[in-house]
Amino acid sequence: MGTCLFCDIAAGKIPCTEVHGDDDFLAFRDIDPKAPTHILVIPRGHVSGLSDLQDADQDMAGRLVLTASRIATAEGLDQAGYRFVINCGRDGGQTVDHLHLPILGGRAFGWPPG
Ligand code: 5GP
Ligand code: ZN
Repeated sequence: MGTCLFCDIAAGKIPCTEVHGDDDFLAFRDIDPKAPTHILVIPRGHVSGLSDLQDADQDMAGRLVLTASRIATAEGLDQAGYRFVINCGRDGGQTVDHLHLPILGGRAFGWPPG
């Protein structure tokens, strides 16, 4: 594996604005927010993206969603609502190849997405 931006952030080699951290996950504010609240939740272990999830990742993937849900509530987004948007691959618009669950909130979103 070569250099991975989000592995470096998880290791503390690159600074971030941390929102939540535990043994398995890190959540930090997006550097280029697309909404008033834009938080990225990542597993500390490297997984390239949704397509690379394995059976062994089942517990991690479930806890990733639960962790993000709790962060959304802690950010005060649960009453008005929010959106989780995991981009995957070229057509999905993924630009960083380390699985990240973005929490977007603080404004109303259109549907379908662009
Ligand atoms: P993707 O395009 O893969 O769905 O999402 C990658 C996200 O990472 C983008 O929203 C982008 O703004 C964010 N991002 C890229 N580089 C950095 C960085 O160095 N720090 C932080 N906090 N966010 C980053
Ligand atoms: Zn990584």
